[in-house]
Amino acid sequence: MDETGAAGSPPGPDDSAFPAFHAGRSGGLAELDAQVAGCRACPRLVQWREEVAAHPRAAFRDQEYWARPVPGFGPSDASLAIVGLAPAAHGGNRTGRMFTGDASGDFLFAALHAVGLASQPTATHRGDGLELYGVRVTAPVHCAPPENRPTPAERQTCRPWLSAELELLSPTLRTVVALGAFGWQALLPVLGEAGWPLPRPRPAFGHGVQLTLPATGRRRELQVLGSYHPSQRNTFTGRLTFDMLVELLARAAALAGPSGPGD
Ligand code: SF4
Repeated sequence: MDETGAAGSPPGPDDSAFPAFHAGRSGGLAELDAQVAGCRACPRLVQWREEVAAHPRAAFRDQEYWARPVPGFGPSDASLAIVGLAPAAHGGNRTGRMFTGDASGDFLFAALHAVGLASQPTATHRGDGLELYGVRVTAPVHCAPPENRPTPAERQTCRPWLSAELELLSPTLRTVVALGAFGWQALLPVLGEAGWPLPRPRPAFGHGVQLTLPATGRRRELQVLGSYHPSQRNTFTGRLTFDMLVELLARAAALAGPSGPGD
């Protein structure tokens, strides 16, 4: 694919080639996060994220929505990554931080806190003091999609951001948890692109499914775990209980080991 824009110039934020051109050129996660936040490559999602912000829920009427792509959240030397699907319209799209400000995030961060991976059990807004320990929370699609369903083309367009994020994390990354079947399906091709050999056929998603991707010349062994998504549909019905998520995250943390270069 030609990554450049018109007349060979670097593609601008509205260009579908913007992520593919810029993601791999980021010198670090802070730079990558800034690039992500400025992306406008998917017209439908740009329109939706801004339309939602123009029509806030009554409870949030006095708040200014972020209404931009939501970058990953967590330290740059994380050994564990948690990959959802996309920000929620009135959650991450409102607060500007992954899983922050919605019921799924309340469930996830409480579980992360219970296993010692978060400084507090709540996540309400950027600047609420929440810190993650050795964990990076991110998504293969960074803008809130209508009906929580990005199209295959939108997933493809956004994919370079997650590829680059995993590349930058790779010196310390040991384990990735994919939340939900969509997260699993979106994550595996990215890991393949990033250099980890994938088994064929690809293993089906399931809660607790564990996949070991062997080390290659430039990659260390990576553990991939599937978890039911902490959506209200799953948590209200008891398909995913708090204890189930805590248990899975504890297992993931044990597999990931301590974070930091040289561990
Ligand atoms: S979904 Fe990804 S590629 Fe599309 S506009 Fe948002 S950040 Fe850019």
